[in-house]
Amino acid sequence: MASPVNPQRVHVLREFPHTNGTVLYWMGRDMRMEDNWALLFAQSLAIRYRMPMAVAFVLPPSFLEATERSYGFLLKGLQETEQLLKKKNIPFYLLPGTPEKVIPKFVQQHNVTKLVADFNPLNIVDQYKISVADKIKISFYEVDAHNIVPVRMASQKQEYGAYTLRPKLHRLLPEFLDEFPPVRKHPFDWNHTVLVIDWQKLQKSLTIDRTVKEVEWIVPGERAAEKCMVHFLSERLNTYETDRNDPIKNGQSNLSPYFHFGHLAPQRVALEVIKLTGKDIRNIVLTDSNGSSDNRGNEAALLEELIVRRELSDNFTFYNKNYDSFEGFPQWAKVSINEHRNDKREKIYTLEQFENAATHDALWNAAQQQMVYTGKMHGYMRMYWAKKILEWTPAVEESMLIANFLNNKYELDGCDPNGYAGVAWSIGGVHDRAWFDRPVFGKIRYMNENGCKRKFNVDEYVKQMRIIAEQS
Ligand SMILES: Cc1cc2nc3c(=O)[nH]c(=O)nc-3n(C[C@H](O)[C@H](O)[C@H](O)COP(=O)(O)OP(=O)(O)OC[C@H]3O[C@@H](n4cnc5c(N)ncnc54)[C@H](O)[C@@H]3O)c2cc1C
Repeated sequence: MASPVNPQRVHVLREFPHTNGTVLYWMGRDMRMEDNWALLFAQSLAIRYRMPMAVAFVLPPSFLEATERSYGFLLKGLQETEQLLKKKNIPFYLLPGTPEKVIPKFVQQHNVTKLVADFNPLNIVDQYKISVADKIKISFYEVDAHNIVPVRMASQKQEYGAYTLRPKLHRLLPEFLDEFPPVRKHPFDWNHTVLVIDWQKLQKSLTIDRTVKEVEWIVPGERAAEKCMVHFLSERLNTYETDRNDPIKNGQSNLSPYFHFGHLAPQRVALEVIKLTGKDIRNIVLTDSNGSSDNRGNEAALLEELIVRRELSDNFTFYNKNYDSFEGFPQWAKVSINEHRNDKREKIYTLEQFENAATHDALWNAAQQQMVYTGKMHGYMRMYWAKKILEWTPAVEESMLIANFLNNKYELDGCDPNGYAGVAWSIGGVHDRAWFDRPVFGKIRYMNENGCKRKFNVDEYVKQMRIIAEQS
């Protein structure tokens, strides 16, 4: 079978002449059966060489600042994926431990001769892959199943901003925005024992923070993700451009937790949106939604966020390994922040005060409460929230640590390139330009409550979040 996967999606980490055995897809970032280029590539290899295949997910006892909230979402999603894979005659293994220990062992015990992993630009995942590669002597491929245009293809360097990445993505979209083929029922049986997974026992064995509980407003898993997409596209896309920046309206898609856990492919959403426009992909113009193209409107605004802004975050975290620190900021921002290091801060808060939503600012506290209690702060408030952390901490290094820590701990879509890029944009001017010089912020773009008041009903937002906090 010719591979249905564009070879440019595949990055060869190691390759050896073919030997018989089995194929393993080490599922990481893209936890779904449908619309998954990494799974499709693994299957195409297995069919070409007439080999059985399996999927394995490695469950480390902890991952960055992830809590019971995010692990619960992850495990429930995987439970569903296990069942979907089973229908395709593909067994699923859940391997507790760290990748450098469990993957080489699995490879040896199951005679794996071809290993496929999905792409993830975060440093911790890179390190996992390097240490796995050091311990195995089989072909090892990495497939970008998360981005529409694979990060290495979109650009060979860190981009300055959306305005430099957009034309590159635009040029490559017709090549990469192709329809996914279905996964086939796998024709070669897996002859090894597949252990029954005790999901509850596994969850109990994790050494994670259990104070941050799961939330009920969003259902994990690929089926729920698809429903959420269909509902958003049919009911709310028609107001997306105007409502998405209003925190008291349900104007955003709420798809980010699904993208983060890989329950839904952004490419699926892009394909569905383009179908709605009735246009050919070649005639889709990616445009800043504030721009002046004739393609403005709800669909264009969504495609801008979903494709350009999201893929810009992967570009940033892939090419800039200091994505979570001051060293990762652009030069102009570093110089400016250094000039303002000794400026007097009107307020200073500790991590504990921030975490407990105990600042003097009711609007900031409301945003923090939304994140703590619902696991998803409104997108507009995230900018205000992070910028105030810069304003109210003694040093920029501390503000980066606090913002990333809280974002990763409470947001369902946290521990993600989008989070690191969003924090670096807010605090360090990444993907932004220099603004007027002012105390503390230097030339970093400033935001204040009056600006928010001009955009939306601040009192109503504060009231809504107070009610949520009281009921939680
Ligand atoms: C300080 C800060 C922290 C952030 N932390 C995260 C995070 O941890 N995880 C995360 O996924 N996003 C993060 N964002 C980006 C953005 O706020 C969220 O992606 C968005 O609010 C998610 O909600 P939604 O899916 O309903 O968005 P929608 O408006 O419906 O957008 C659809 C999709 O487009 C993408 N998108 C939208 N806005 C952005 C953006 N500004 N940058 C990159 N991609 C975008 C996301 O994939 C999103 O799911 C952060 C932004 C800032 C300023």
